[in-house]
Amino acid sequence: MLYAPLAEIDPEVQNIIDKESWRQLSGLELIASENLTSQAVMEANGSILTNKYSEGLPGARYYGGNEYIDELENLCRKRALKAFNLDPAKWGVNVQPYSGSTANFAAFTALIQPNDRLMGLGLPDGGHLTHGYYTAKKKMTASSIYFQSLPYSITSDTNLIDYPSLAAQAKIFKPRMIVCGASAYPRDWDYAELKKTAEKEGAWLLCDMAHTSGLVAAQELNSPFDYCDVVTTTTHKTLRGPRAGLIFFRKDLENAKDLEKRVNEAVFPACQGGPHNNTIAAVATALLQVAQPAFKDYAKQVILNARTLAASLSEHGYKLQTGGTDNHLVLWDLRPLGLTGSKIEKVCDLMGITINKNAVSGDASAQVPGGIRLGTSALTSRNMVESDIKVVADLLHRAVQLSLILQKEAGTKMLKDFVRVATTQEEGKEGYAKV
Ligand code: PLP
Repeated sequence: MLYAPLAEIDPEVQNIIDKESWRQLSGLELIASENLTSQAVMEANGSILTNKYSEGLPGARYYGGNEYIDELENLCRKRALKAFNLDPAKWGVNVQPYSGSTANFAAFTALIQPNDRLMGLGLPDGGHLTHGYYTAKKKMTASSIYFQSLPYSITSDTNLIDYPSLAAQAKIFKPRMIVCGASAYPRDWDYAELKKTAEKEGAWLLCDMAHTSGLVAAQELNSPFDYCDVVTTTTHKTLRGPRAGLIFFRKDLENAKDLEKRVNEAVFPACQGGPHNNTIAAVATALLQVAQPAFKDYAKQVILNARTLAASLSEHGYKLQTGGTDNHLVLWDLRPLGLTGSKIEKVCDLMGITINKNAVSGDASAQVPGGIRLGTSALTSRNMVESDIKVVADLLHRAVQLSLILQKEAGTKMLKDFVRVATTQEEGKEGYAKV
């Protein structure tokens, strides 16, 4: 029983894996937060390391039998610093967070007290849920339940981060922490400007570079390490590793010599239990790959591909938020066409193109977003280059034109029916699709 293969023990799960495998291989993956990790990373992730408990840190564990786990975690920490070109005398890293959300909450726990104030980019403007998101009706996330949050925004004309207004808000709100980094912001960040504001108001500056960490490691974008006190990231987006999180912290701050202890204790025991050692092994392998010259070429190509996608969609006459991109993602504003992001997401699903609906600047509700977010990380991992991306842009153009024709010919109802019928067949459920 212990040594029989999955297909024999559980053909039902094996079958689902096979179907998902086929979906990933046969379709076009354009979700900006996803990527295709390497076989080596998956081998490490599926290894016997999953069996081991190792609460604590290398050399100070709550369980016996951790000599190899210590070696592994130390290796992973060393590789994390090397991948981002960080001096171990100035920076440390905790490699235990289970995901980006837990990394963020642990970092917040390390830096600020319950009810302290924080400012992050608003969700409709591209920020992430964990950066203090709440709605008029509800505090939606732990970051707004346990802390007082005030979002900053992008400008209504350029759709770039509104640094002057952020500084003015911070002067009144007096946050203990400013969070930068985003889930849907196609431009680079001015960390020097953010540092000025944080310093002036006595706030920590934390960057969540989850989306762009692979591009930062390849030195294709500004480095948050030059200005931020703490940097968090997921490891599965542009970094192309397994699903996990990392927290980098400064070791050279005169006023916070204890930052290392605070971060480590915030991860365990404050927010997590035993580390997932199979994942830490997979992160270590991914970071080894990130430090190789081929990864730099990959990151360059991700950006070239995103720029090509933006240029091709613009040539078709579509509106893009900020008019283009500096990184791996493109935000496509569908509102001038009278289409919602959810409709195009469904139509694309039927075409084997995976994208996600996304709020664009000025959307009244994040629940009915007027745009879609596209990313080139996964297609670039499949060795696609600019000429391939032009074909992808043409396919997206066809998806939109098809939706427009259906909508024009028979009104919104026909498009709704088209999506509902097709999705019903797929899901075997009546009225599954909500468009
Ligand atoms: N931070 C940012 C900027 C993200 O975009 C995401 C996820 O998309 C997260 C954090 C959360 O990561 P996870 O899903 O691993 O918890």
